[in-house]
Amino acid sequence: KSLVHIENVSKFYGDLKALDNVSLDIHEGETVVIIGPSGSGKSTLLRSINKLETIDAGKVIIDGVDIYDEATDINKVREEVGMVFQSFNVFPHKTVMENLNLAQTVVRKRTAEEATGISKKLLEKVGIFEKADEYPGKLSGGQQQRVAIARALAMTPKIMLFDEPTSALDPEMIGEVLDVMTKLAKEGMTMVVVTHEMGFAREVADRIIFMDHGAVVEQGTPDEFFDHT
Ligand code: ADP
Ligand code: ADP
Repeated sequence: KSLVHIENVSKFYGDLKALDNVSLDIHEGETVVIIGPSGSGKSTLLRSINKLETIDAGKVIIDGVDIYDEATDINKVREEVGMVFQSFNVFPHKTVMENLNLAQTVVRKRTAEEATGISKKLLEKVGIFEKADEYPGKLSGGQQQRVAIARALAMTPKIMLFDEPTSALDPEMIGEVLDVMTKLAKEGMTMVVVTHEMGFAREVADRIIFMDHGAVVEQGTPDEFFDHT
């Protein structure tokens, strides 16, 4: 089943073609890794999947919903699409547990008890259960990024987008974040990941997409991909 259908999407910044007629389907349970040189449009493509960018042509359908259709309530769509950024976007004035509970109670209308139960499980999963009552400022970058992942997961999204999730981390913390992402992929989460971590791409991706100058210029399984490059 195609969860994300991207059809002939183009995007300009003035004269610069950031996305050049990109078409792509992402299937349920698939882990897609997007690689390519800096400025090739990876981030713009990823951000078009939850309408953080406007597009100039084409369409993006998520689980049957045309997200660039003016009639579509984009907030409803975003509730199903978790996103993790390079800079761990956690709320600094809330504890780790409060970070995870907030959207669950406000958006998903879970009771505080339900939300806390789910949050505890997620904190265990990402390996920071003992940090539940800390403020993010007390945590390392790797721990904060795991909070950001757990917070996105707390919404029980249909798909997770990762935009260079380890690029802002000290080298020794990259592994702990990639481990969490690997676990998620193995559990069958649908994921789209922009990263420069080739080891992760090789071992975890179902499909690797190579972008250049706003276009998808090559794609394949890791085996296909690394064989003829
Ligand atoms: P990547 O993620 O592959 O590094 P991006 O998607 O961030 O590439 O950017 C694609 C191209 O669009 C780049 O040339 C970048 O400079 C340009 N670009 C991105 N955002 C903007 C913006 N807000 N205004 C103008 N140009 C932009
Ligand atoms: P990334 O590759 O992770 O997207 P960038 O450094 O390319 O990071 O971009 C960081 C921010 O700057 C993004 O919000 C992007 O839209 C914006 N940006 C990138 N290139 C340009 C540009 N040429 N003009 C204006 N804004 C830009």
